[in-house]
Amino acid sequence: MLRATFYQNMPIRLRLTLWYVGLLAATLVLFSLLLVGSVYIAMNQQLSRELESVARRVAASVLVVHQARQADANTPLAMPPLDAFGSPDIFVELRLPDGNIWMRSANLGEESLELSQEAYRQAYRGLPTLRTVRGSEGGRMRILTYPVIDESGRPIAIVQVGKSLDEIDRNMRRLITVVLFGGVLALLAALVVGAWLAQRALAPVDQVTQAALRISRAEDLDKRIPEPGTSDEIGRLVSAFNEMLARLDDVFRDQQRFVADVSHELRTPLTSLQATIDLLKRGVLDDPEARSQAIKTVESEVARLNRLVADLLLLARADEGEPIERKPVELDTLLLEVYLQAKVLAEASGKAIRVRLGHEDQALVLGDRDRLKQLLLNLVDNAIKYTREGEVVLSLYRDDGWVRLVVQDTGIGIPEEAIPHLFRRFYRVDKARSRELGGSGLGLAIVRWIAEAHGGYVTVESREGKGSTFTVHLPLAPQPAPREAARGEAGARGPRAEVTGAPPRR
Ligand code: ADP
Repeated sequence: MLRATFYQNMPIRLRLTLWYVGLLAATLVLFSLLLVGSVYIAMNQQLSRELESVARRVAASVLVVHQARQADANTPLAMPPLDAFGSPDIFVELRLPDGNIWMRSANLGEESLELSQEAYRQAYRGLPTLRTVRGSEGGRMRILTYPVIDESGRPIAIVQVGKSLDEIDRNMRRLITVVLFGGVLALLAALVVGAWLAQRALAPVDQVTQAALRISRAEDLDKRIPEPGTSDEIGRLVSAFNEMLARLDDVFRDQQRFVADVSHELRTPLTSLQATIDLLKRGVLDDPEARSQAIKTVESEVARLNRLVADLLLLARADEGEPIERKPVELDTLLLEVYLQAKVLAEASGKAIRVRLGHEDQALVLGDRDRLKQLLLNLVDNAIKYTREGEVVLSLYRDDGWVRLVVQDTGIGIPEEAIPHLFRRFYRVDKARSRELGGSGLGLAIVRWIAEAHGGYVTVESREGKGSTFTVHLPLAPQPAPREAARGEAGARGPRAEVTGAPPRR
């Protein structure tokens, strides 16, 4: 646990370097062991082959002499000098079957090669042995004891060939020193280069951290971290961070604007109420007509406040992600209801506006009836508000899994540049006019939310001075089961359950 924390608290730079050096060290150790081991084995094999070759040649010579003597007992037992078989660093010795020395190479002088009991026994059985013994000068020596056997299987002599292992030992020591020094040097180099590489690779992360800290301390979401201009991990990290900053900046600004807008919206009716109360207090409104006018003002301002608060509450719930009801709603019936209400509104507006029903298909959607009615009423209310004279037409089309609710007017229209902002909270093309007409600037934001909560979207077409058309696209309720469909008219051209493509956002 403690070790894990210590490791986790270690800078990544150090961790990377340690891993790098550790792996290299393990590889080097393995490689060195293999190298030293295989060189040692190869040198020993080479030595054994050398000793065996000398022993074989001496043995062959002994056999020739032996056979000659067997053919003719008078033949003298003459062996060539043993130096002829080896080299100055190879000692050769020939012993009689009883173990006594017969001949030795000149480089042995008066010394003899050690013949152990075990080696003698093996030789007597016709088997060669290879031993390593301590030499008289302290070094090591490899001795091959090689029996010479005649054709009846009897030992006729024992050849002993020896060579000092000093050279092999010296070479091995040299190799191990080189490998050790080389390894340590390589590890030191890896440590320095690894630390430098890790430092270089991670330096941009430090820069990003510093920049992020500077931005957060200065609370300046306007600032961005300088992009390194690469598409590597760091480049992507910086882009992601900047994107997040931009998003935070947007949210922060939206929030500030929203609070400012709400305060502004509240101030207008409150100022008006305050002014009316002042007049009442000062007794200026003794005249019954003026008083009734004041009461009307109070009523309408309170109604406006109520509407504003209700709209805000609704949007707050929407922001919280409150789910909507999903019950079958007959849109044609709903449209008829709204049409009747629209007629009353148009009449009450006192303007020469004719409300009529256009095309009307039958359509069933899954959703919240009250919310859908509110959506239509908001659109119809706007159509009447922003039309001086002419007509407002309500239509309902059903095609290909979707339903289109269309509210068309012949009003003042909307400038093209305003259309992308239309659904933003508190956005108005003409602030003074909207307020004068009792608008809060939240109507279309609510329309968009209701449409999207039903899996749909809203589109707008408008020409200034000619009129506007708002179309709400909603997915039809899923097709009923085939047996029900056969009974009902929905079977003729049933709606499709799937919705293709994401609704475009305005
Ligand atoms: P408001 O309460 O101001 O009507 P909305 O969100 O309903 O707020 O509408 C936003 C703005 O869009 C309005 O202020 C108005 O400028 C414009 N608008 C909406 N509907 C229409 C329409 N049918 N004709 C012309 N302009 C419209």
